[in-house]
Parts: sequence; C-alpha cells; structure tokens
Amino acid sequence: MLINRQIAACVACASPLLCLMAAAAAAAAAAAQDLPAVVERELPGLVTTYEGIHAHPELSHHEEHTAALLASELRNAGYTVTERIGKYPDGTQAYGVVAILENGAGPRLLIRTDMDALPIVEETGVRYASHVKAKNAAGQEIGVMHACGHDVHVSTMIGTARALADSRSHWHGTVMIVGQPSEETVDGAKAMLADHLYERFGRPNFAIALHDTNLRAAGTVGIVSGPLLAGVTSVDVTLRGIGGHGALPQNGKDPIVMAGEFIVELQTIVSRQEDPHDPSVVTIGDIHGGTKRNVIPYEVKMELTTRAFSDKAMKIIVDGIKRTAQGVALSAGVPDDRQPIVTVLDDESSPATYNDPALTLRVKAALLTALGAPNVIDDEPLMASEDFGLFGLEGKQIPTVMFWLGAMDPAKLAAAQAAGQTLPGPHTSRFEPVPEPTLRTGVIAMTSVAAALLQR
Ligand SMILES: [Zn+2]
Ligand SMILES: [Zn+2]
Repeated sequence: MLINRQIAACVACASPLLCLMAAAAAAAAAAAQDLPAVVERELPGLVTTYEGIHAHPELSHHEEHTAALLASELRNAGYTVTERIGKYPDGTQAYGVVAILENGAGPRLLIRTDMDALPIVEETGVRYASHVKAKNAAGQEIGVMHACGHDVHVSTMIGTARALADSRSHWHGTVMIVGQPSEETVDGAKAMLADHLYERFGRPNFAIALHDTNLRAAGTVGIVSGPLLAGVTSVDVTLRGIGGHGALPQNGKDPIVMAGEFIVELQTIVSRQEDPHDPSVVTIGDIHGGTKRNVIPYEVKMELTTRAFSDKAMKIIVDGIKRTAQGVALSAGVPDDRQPIVTVLDDESSPATYNDPALTLRVKAALLTALGAPNVIDDEPLMASEDFGLFGLEGKQIPTVMFWLGAMDPAKLAAAQAAGQTLPGPHTSRFEPVPEPTLRTGVIAMTSVAAALLQR
C-alpha cells in the first residue's frame, strides 16, 4: 500500500529520476519491513541447503544435481519451472533452469544465479567440506570445490525466491529466475541464450545478479557503476619447431627457447603497446613442451587468458599475441610449414561486465534502505571476468547490474586487513564464506532490490 501511494504521488512530479528513486526506496522499505522475520525463519534451512550444495559440487557442464535441487526448491516456492535449458555449440543440452513467478502487470526482472564449481582440492577444513573427485577432459582424477561461492549464490536465490513469493503484495510484474550453468567456462549464458531463452520465457526489462567476495565482510555489499569486470579472451598458442637431439641444437629449431622469448616479449603488449589508462592483462597459465632432458621437442603448447575493459584494448592484445608468435618464429628461422598456431577460443571468451549507471542508482538506493549506509560500499572494478553481462544482449540493450556480496567473517577480515593481508579469495582452495550472515545479507539485499525494481 505504501508503494502504491508513493507512486500515485509521483505521477505529477517534475523530477522523474528522483521520483523513481523515491518510489524504489519506498518499495524497498515496505518490503524490508517484513523481510528480516521471513529471512530469520528461512535461515536455518538455507544454511543446511548451502552446506549440502557445498559438500556436493559439480563442475561446469555437469551441474545435474545442483540444477535439480534448485528447480525443485523453486517449484515448491510456487514458481513455474523449466529445466534443461541451454545448448552448447557441440549440440549437448545444458542444465539451465528458468523459474517464473507472475504477479500482475509490471516489469519483467531477470535474477541470475550460477551453479558450477571448480577443479580444486578443498583445503578449508570446514565440517561440510567437499571430498568430491571427478575426471577432467584428459581423464585425470581431480578434486572439485565450490571455490567461487556459486553455492552461496544458489542458496541465496532459493531464499530470495521464497521471500518474493511471500511478499507479492509489495511488488508487481514478473520474476524470472535463471539458474545458469557453466559460468566458470563462460559458455553457460551463451548456451541459454542460444536455446532461445528470451523467445521462450520473455525478454526482461532488467537483469541483476550478485557475486560473493573475499574483500568484504559478511553483512555488507559493494557496488560499482559502469565497468565492473573485464572482458576475457582465451587464446591457445602452439609454437612449432624442429625436434632433435639435445646435444645437436644446430640441426633443429628449438621451440622451448622460442617459448622463453615469447613469454618475456608477450608482456610488452601490456607495458609498451597498450594505453596505460585502459588496463589489461595477459597471463600464460599453462605450458607444455618436451618429454626428456636431452630431446628437443617439436612443439610447445600454451594456454593464455587475456583481460581488458574495452574492445580496442582486447584487439591490441590479440593482434599482439599473433604478431609476437610470428616474430619469434621468424627470428628462429622456422620454415613456413611450421609457423605458430594461434587460436582464439570464442567459447571461452566473454565481453566486459557493465553495470548500467541508471539501474545502479536504483539498485544502490534499495540496498541503502535495506542494509543501511555503512553496509553499502562503493567498490572498484576488477580484472576478473563473468558471462552475466551477456544477458544484457549485444550493445547493452537490457540494463544489467551485478553487486558484490561480502562473505568473510568480519573479525578475520579485520585481522587480515590490519596485517596488510587479504583472506583467501575465489578460485583458491581456502576460500571460506561464512554461511549464516552471508546468506542473510544476500537474501535481504536481493529481495529488496527485486521488490524495488518490480514496480509499475
Ligand atoms: Zn569463478
Ligand atoms: Zn564466480
């Protein structure tokens, strides 16, 4: 009721933006009134759900049980749920989930959670730690861990879905929950869109998401307007030479020496060719060559990840990688039929994640109302990457915002900061979100933001 009165009062207003923000704040305030009680009621169950998901992580492309759990919880909360949404380029079906809750006329809001885990052996020592092992593409046994907190995201989403279903009198429109597979391989959002996500379930007016962070305490959130996360382009480079006896280098073309030159020269793309005001990164994370100390191999293979915020910087980097590989081969005298192979992996690449400034203002207003000013922190962009931005479509047609959810024990974070250190972060074996306060804040924050955006 409070929201309806507020919006009615706004119809004749001369300042639409302020009006909109006042309405959003009023909506968030109204929804927030009952929210703490609802969240406290749900919290013990959500923590149990979180521990279960954490103990049973599934790698990208294999989120079968996590997706089924999310689907069943959303169905129980009253949503219309469709499973197995998403098509990968090789034709296999993904484990994407879409859950719809209609509540009269109003905007359509996409809220996204990712679901996949990472090939990391967990070393947190928590009671509910993962002992799961899986086989990678090469057939090797590897540990699996929710080391990026996508278990936090799924649990928060379940709590948010229930809270929104419970508070239908405070919002209007349609909630469209997306359980996205394969974020870590950045091909899950693409797969869902390729499976006609918007044609089948409606095109949203906005899309929002959260991601947990080791840089903020549980109980707080961080927000950035504009560029949030860098774009990623994955590149494979194979330097080819001519193998032979290690004692007779004059008879071959040594790709190991070429790789050494390539690795050092590559860093000058960022430091000498790229604009320092437009930050970028080039990292070689994987290198393989050779079988024995006295054998010159025929080739060295490298896997690169590159990060940049602008398309211009990304082009300079990719062109630079190709040119550097060719230059190294040229200077080594490699014959034409043994030139380097440089492959850009479109399936493992994604554009920068951009927080729409106008939508960020509305999201921030709702967060301030729900959590209080000391708990809403203005944050900086990061060079990490995400594929959430793809839900905004080419050319940012649909405004998107992702905000940070603090996940660290406040006392441990304060002690680490006092010592000039950071706590173990995402993609490390000791990343340890503190479940209860993180989930509480996540559900309150996401529900408040959703209610504020879902107004006529
Ligand atoms: Zn991750
Ligand atoms: Zn993540």
